Amino acid sequence: MQKGQIGVTTENIFPVIKKFLYSDHEIFLRELVSNAIDATQKLKTLASFGEFKGELGEMKVEVKVDKEAGTLTVSDHGIGMTAEDIEKYINQIAFSGAEEFLNKYKDNANSIIGHFGLGFYSAFMVAKKVEIRSLSYKDGSEAIKWECDGSPEYSMEPITKESRGTDIILYIDDDNKEFLEQARIDTLLKKYCRFLPVPVVSGKEQEWKDGKYVDTDKDKVINDTEPTWTKKPSELTDEDYRKFYHELYPGQEDPLFWIHLNVDYPFTLTGILFFPKIKSNLEIRKDRIQLYCNQVYVTDSVEGVVPEFMMLLQGVIDSPDIPLNVSRSYLQSDTAVKKISGYITKKVASRLEELFKANRADFESKWDDIKIFIEYGMLTDEKFCDAAMKFVLLKDTDNKYYTLDEYKTLVEATQTDKDGNLVYIYATDPTAQYNYIHTANEKGYNILLMDGQLDGHFISMLESKLDKTRFVRVDSDVVENLIPKVDKKGTDLNADQISLLTTLFHSQVPKMEKSDFLVSFESLDPAANPILITQNEYMRRMKDMAATQPGMSFYAELPDNYNLIVNTSQPVIAKILDEAEKALDDKIAPLRKAMNEGNEQLSAIRAEIKDNKPTDEQSEKEKALMQEVDKSRKEQEEIIGKYASEKPIIKQVIDIALLGNGLLQGRDLSEFIKRSISML
Ligand code: ADP
Repeated sequence: MQKGQIGVTTENIFPVIKKFLYSDHEIFLRELVSNAIDATQKLKTLASFGEFKGELGEMKVEVKVDKEAGTLTVSDHGIGMTAEDIEKYINQIAFSGAEEFLNKYKDNANSIIGHFGLGFYSAFMVAKKVEIRSLSYKDGSEAIKWECDGSPEYSMEPITKESRGTDIILYIDDDNKEFLEQARIDTLLKKYCRFLPVPVVSGKEQEWKDGKYVDTDKDKVINDTEPTWTKKPSELTDEDYRKFYHELYPGQEDPLFWIHLNVDYPFTLTGILFFPKIKSNLEIRKDRIQLYCNQVYVTDSVEGVVPEFMMLLQGVIDSPDIPLNVSRSYLQSDTAVKKISGYITKKVASRLEELFKANRADFESKWDDIKIFIEYGMLTDEKFCDAAMKFVLLKDTDNKYYTLDEYKTLVEATQTDKDGNLVYIYATDPTAQYNYIHTANEKGYNILLMDGQLDGHFISMLESKLDKTRFVRVDSDVVENLIPKVDKKGTDLNADQISLLTTLFHSQVPKMEKSDFLVSFESLDPAANPILITQNEYMRRMKDMAATQPGMSFYAELPDNYNLIVNTSQPVIAKILDEAEKALDDKIAPLRKAMNEGNEQLSAIRAEIKDNKPTDEQSEKEKALMQEVDKSRKEQEEIIGKYASEKPIIKQVIDIALLGNGLLQGRDLSEFIKRSISML
């Protein structure tokens, strides 16, 4: 019998393996089964080159649990190992500074295992003793047994073994008894080995007999050796793709469409990406893209390999060229990975364009579902964005779809403002904004529907990409001002009238928390509403975006600012003004005069001070004047407010405007109804 020391520089590698790799210890099975598959494939390759002339026989890999013996065995009928092979591949784990390395990468078991060919040794994460029994395919080989109990010492001796190939026998340690449960092994095999290219057999098929499930004689094959992505697209039907999708993600709706990836230069990559039906929000999906390496499952965290926005997709990517066993930060900076990511982006974009061109009606019918994905892609990936400008669609409130070019052509003539800018008008809530949409449609404007979760960001992005184009929400201004065609008319009211009406209306606006109303005047269509309420486009957009973007809470905290626009051409307004002037002019004239005089004196004293430091006397005078002006203003406000509160018509016209914007609620709404009835 040969005895020796395993060639590691560290005193004892196994406790280190156990300790640091603990969290990931289930991957030992993946490693052992992968080795068995490799050995099988190698022999098949040798046979195909005529270098192995014997009988291949049934080339399955078997995973056997023996609870009584406390062993888990992985067997194959592959190339096997001679004593020299074992010496070379198993005994000489050639690396230096093992401990230092392990410390560095202790959070990522994958990185250590793959990097240093430690696959086989991961068996010691769960076993107190490991035995290799192997017979090489080479003519005249002698079967060999290798044994190691987790110390750096191993033993090797010849044995009798009839069948070619390797058995790896794990004597499962007490802490890992779970791996002696067939059900646990089944779960792991399903996870890691589902699509391996060689049949993997574990346990027996079961049947229902006498009220319970019992084993039959038939071996249970756990994998599909020819998964759909390994086949040629020309050999597959739509049904095949759908079936595969449901196999991967049971219990989901049919995918919208899919992209079959197939590259062999400059890297090798196959796979199928599915566009799932995404519900209205961007929650982190749990059914994600799965990454395979030659049909061995590696992970479903594909950050870095796949462009970020494609995390919304599902499916599989299989590539031997992705350095799977390195840390994530390394992955992201790896040029091969960047190329892969770029390739996937290009492929997805061109497939979308193809779908769009081939069947526009079908593309439109799926648009509402894929919109969120495409917008997300355009917002986060410059290259995708450029490609998608050709097929991204805009939808209007009549459910018609347009490409960007088509839409420009559609509205160019009617929706260009006096400065030559195209103005795209949009609605976010067709029911609430019905009135505005209707009025704008009547004026011949088209209204886009922008009710998606990302539309706020998407609009800003389009504004930066499209030449001389801006977006305004349909209720951001009165229809005349949405697309300014001529310079503003303003109103013909004088300053006193404006001041009177401002105070009058402002005093009757309901007090709402975190809302502010700015009264302004415009001479609009006499048939239009007496008062219109609009919301500044810029501020509203900032607040909308703040709602979905954590860093912008500053905007979210600001009050809602509304413009209360008084249509001075409207007869009701003219009447209100006329009556108020008659009733109040006498009372407020002296106050107004006092205020004007006070203001004049204030300007004078401020001019006197100018850039100099004011004297005490000047400061005091300034303060006194300010107080005086303020007092007159307050008195005036009180008089006007009292008058306004006794005129139900004023509250009524405001409430009608609020109602039109869905801003009249609760007590204010019920008071409005009561008042309306009493006015009938
Ligand atoms: P890796 O697979 O990354 O090379 P391992 O530690 O898993 O590292 O295996 C080391 C080597 O041992 C393999 O490259 C292979 O040559 C040999 N080996 C492992 N398992 C088997 C097996 N079941 N049959 C034949 N050779 C094997």
